[in-house]
Amino acid sequence: MGLSTLLTATSLNKSFGDLKAVRDLSLSVKSGEIVALLGPNGAGKTTTLRMLIGLAARDSGTIEYVDRTGKSHDSLPPAEIGYLPEERGLYIDRRVIDGLVYFARLRGRSKSEALESAQHWLERFDLWDRRADEVKTLSKGNQQKVQFISAVIHRPQLAIIDEPFSGFDPINQERMLGFLEELRKAGTSILFSAHQMDLVQRLADRILLMSRGELVAEGTLSEIRRRAGSGNAQTVEVEYQLPPDAQQLEQAPSNCRLEGNTVEMTVAGDQTINDAVHWLSSLGTITTMTTREPSLHDIYLDQLKESTT
Ligand code: ATP
Repeated sequence: MGLSTLLTATSLNKSFGDLKAVRDLSLSVKSGEIVALLGPNGAGKTTTLRMLIGLAARDSGTIEYVDRTGKSHDSLPPAEIGYLPEERGLYIDRRVIDGLVYFARLRGRSKSEALESAQHWLERFDLWDRRADEVKTLSKGNQQKVQFISAVIHRPQLAIIDEPFSGFDPINQERMLGFLEELRKAGTSILFSAHQMDLVQRLADRILLMSRGELVAEGTLSEIRRRAGSGNAQTVEVEYQLPPDAQQLEQAPSNCRLEGNTVEMTVAGDQTINDAVHWLSSLGTITTMTTREPSLHDIYLDQLKESTT
């Protein structure tokens, strides 16, 4: 059985004066999915998320949300939704635990549910010992963790998270990735925006790529790869026993890069991996060989080049 659809947005449009920030954008999130919204600065990601939440009025378009009981809504019900805005802001004079419990209570959870959830997430983020401290005494990264917790403390059905990784060091980005996976396991579907391609590639079930307010690619990573076609060629990397002759490499049938004993060759046009390997093996004794699919980063750059030229 397919997953049920939680959120469907159809033909959203939003202008600021003459600027069309979002054009005819449709998207959906299914129950249990993690969906990533990608795109360069100014593509319209935050505006889209804000329209979904109801913080920005849309010029046109519809939103349909189906809650846990199967009831349909034309906007997102706050008790079912967690939202982490791009611009962070907490009540900094409040004690960490009080702020979190306040948010959960605001969204209809009982005091004991709120406390239990606050303890769970504070422990997961190693912040339980700081629960009685005022938010302003925490480091920026720790404040950001508390804000993330405040967005999901009420165990929402859908979390909309604008740039979960920004402002974190690589170790905390890695941990955040784990927390988002954990959140999904606990029953929360996720729609998030991000710029960190390597993390998105690992986390997202489906990717929506925006450019200049429009959706330019959509699907799983492999679907996007397939549709991106020959512009996103595979790469073969071989290591030789001895460095190959650079002059011979100039005769290569496609792009090659030599570094020490290693040659990286792009499999382009009608060429197959077999053709590439056959040609490369004529240059000397190969000791190791790997092939690499185009990464999300490669595809992203390629798609955006197409959509902006
Ligand atoms: P980033 O990755 O930099 O956060 P984004 O994809 O989230 O970018 P948005 O913040 O949605 O992009 O902005 C889309 C466009 O709309 C930009 O050109 C931005 O300048 C413009 N814009 C956003 N909010 C407003 C506003 N309140 N008034 C006027 N223009 C706005």
